[in-house]
Amino acid sequence: MQVFLNDKLVPEGEARVSVLDRGFLYGDSVFETLRAYGGVPFMLSTHLRRLARSADALGIHIPISIDELRSAVMSTLEANSLKSAYLRVMVSRGVGPPGFDPTADTTPTLVVLARELSPYPDEMYTDGVKLIVSPVRRNHPQALDPSIKSGNFLNNILAKADASRAGAYDSVMLSIEGFVAECTSSNIFFARDGVLHTPSTRVGILDGITRGTIIEQARKRNIQVQEGEYTLRALMEAEEVFITNTTMEVMPVRAVDDRTFRPGPLAKMLRDAYQALINL
Ligand code: PLP
Repeated sequence: MQVFLNDKLVPEGEARVSVLDRGFLYGDSVFETLRAYGGVPFMLSTHLRRLARSADALGIHIPISIDELRSAVMSTLEANSLKSAYLRVMVSRGVGPPGFDPTADTTPTLVVLARELSPYPDEMYTDGVKLIVSPVRRNHPQALDPSIKSGNFLNNILAKADASRAGAYDSVMLSIEGFVAECTSSNIFFARDGVLHTPSTRVGILDGITRGTIIEQARKRNIQVQEGEYTLRALMEAEEVFITNTTMEVMPVRAVDDRTFRPGPLAKMLRDAYQALINL
């Protein structure tokens, strides 16, 4: 595998990052996950803009321009001869003097990884996935704001571990106030009485790019979409639940804790709509 490291492609075995890198020491980094279809990364510019916003929010300097970053992503895909791929673009604050102070001089580290995407099994889309509600809460926006896609994902990792231990696919995470926020690496939607609901960004979530696309596609099809603050009870009273992210697109949910749901028509219709955009 060829990895893009800082300014060039290198074989994976030579792609080394210092043990003093702040991404490794403190999770002091930002990243994006993308999916490429037929050798073309979907919504590349939107992902790179979000990377730039995350980096800005933390004062991390991206060492190359957005255009150069776009070329780096494309050359990583091409160097690995990948068509259907998972891509990860990471920028850490890099190596600097000892201590937390992020204002000291550091040299950022940039990494672009690309690997073959193993598609999710079809049964997941037909039967839906099981979720639990984790006791681990999503960060409060006044702590590490969940709108920043940082390398510091430990709350979500703990919540994912809860799901694995319970034999579930993933966990629903609530905000500190107890509102439904999102899953550990996806946004959540539910439908009730013909209205599609999804937690508002005010709750403290990652403003998912797939979430935005799905809201837009639903509204185009005259489906009413509301973004709000929802209790767990509102989620449990839904007729249909699904989750979204870049790699899984739109995934139906068959259970949240003991409450079961039938994979419904909206998830199917919106996944078809999403896939139609990819094939444009
Ligand atoms: N929420 C979290 C916490 C995530 O990590 C992700 C993606 O990894 C998402 C939501 C979905 O975001 P996107 O649709 O941009 O992939």
